[in-house]
Amino acid sequence: EKQQGVALVIGVTGIVGNCLAEILPLSDTPRGPWKVYGVARRPKPDWSPDSPVEYIQCDVLDRELTLEKISPLKDVTHLFWVVWVSRETEEQNCEDNGRMLSNVLDALLPNAENLQHICLQTGAKHYLGPFDAAARNRCFQPHEAPYHEELPRLPVPNFYYTLEDIVFEAAKKKDGLTWSIHRPAAIIGFSPWSLMNVLGTLCVYAAICKHEGLPFKYPGNTISWEQFMDASDAELIAEQEIWAATDPYAKNQAFNCSNGDVFKWKRLWRIIAEKFDLEPLPREGEGFSLAEAMKDKGPVWDAIVGENKLYPTKIEEVGNWWFADFVLNVPWEPVFSMNKSKEYGFFGFRNTETSVGQWIDKIRASNIVP
Ligand code: NDP
Repeated sequence: EKQQGVALVIGVTGIVGNCLAEILPLSDTPRGPWKVYGVARRPKPDWSPDSPVEYIQCDVLDRELTLEKISPLKDVTHLFWVVWVSRETEEQNCEDNGRMLSNVLDALLPNAENLQHICLQTGAKHYLGPFDAAARNRCFQPHEAPYHEELPRLPVPNFYYTLEDIVFEAAKKKDGLTWSIHRPAAIIGFSPWSLMNVLGTLCVYAAICKHEGLPFKYPGNTISWEQFMDASDAELIAEQEIWAATDPYAKNQAFNCSNGDVFKWKRLWRIIAEKFDLEPLPREGEGFSLAEAMKDKGPVWDAIVGENKLYPTKIEEVGNWWFADFVLNVPWEPVFSMNKSKEYGFFGFRNTETSVGQWIDKIRASNIVP
């Protein structure tokens, strides 16, 4: 397939959207340099001023607006779905996330004649169940790790399942339209506008500890501290999505996407501490909730942003405390199998410890933390 790709990235300023926006326009990317349309609700951010992405401000939950803004994009060949909205209950997640995808597909299918492929990003909750089921005394058993792609769906509502079904239906409606599903673990990357950026959140925590002279205590449980975990570099996910979008052998498949190694948080904690010139303390006692510990730190963050002339952010944007609490308190060892992805021909990987160091440098170079 030599023809140039035309991507529509929904969620272009998110943790993976950012990476797609950087990689797709490069000339050595398969089918590149891609033309890229990128969609998000807020105005174009100025952290990548030279980006060639055609930025489209649109709330894809708004059906009329979506039809108005997306229908004219008749040259789109590939849709990249790297977006989600978070609601109180999983039923509402299914409703709103499903509606967003249907709105975009209803704009594209009748107009983008050359639409060839949909990359749908979901994640580990495919195997674990949604956040709210985890909270309400599970009425089901999550799958046992290592997770592999052919495990059956869990018997609970899950917006990932809703999105998959919408994609399967779309593929039936249009001849030759293929899809791939990508399931990352916790994503390590850069975006101050992500709903779930665990590393960015811990950098904000570290900056607050440094500023206030507080000990850099590990909030999580002994499982995450002592046992093998895995994570997913945002750039690696973008690479896997582009591979699946362009390699005929990868069509109509779901793939896990983790770095391909395992790590321990106790080692990452040391790396983060050193980057912020803090003492890497050993884990102690019961652990604590970052959401609780950080709930009054808004003014402290404002002061740090002001004193260091950082990119303007509110603590609610960059401190996703609830998500860090979730990731660092998993009650089991969550490791993905990357066998299928390799068997189908994607050999990308990251060294998680190296990747964490590099992303901290990037977060800092982008002036998000001091
Ligand atoms: P992010 O939260 O990082 O990014 C979301 C992006 O979508 C932003 O650009 C946001 O910008 C945009 N956006 C949000 N709502 C709308 C809307 N209604 N209309 C248009 N644009 C919108 O996304 P992720 O990559 O984290 O999430 C994608 C998928 O990956 C989700 O299913 C998530 O569950 C999954 N996942 C994420 C993990 C993680 O660690 N982050 C781990 C595993 C899976 P703006 O707000 O300006 O609109």
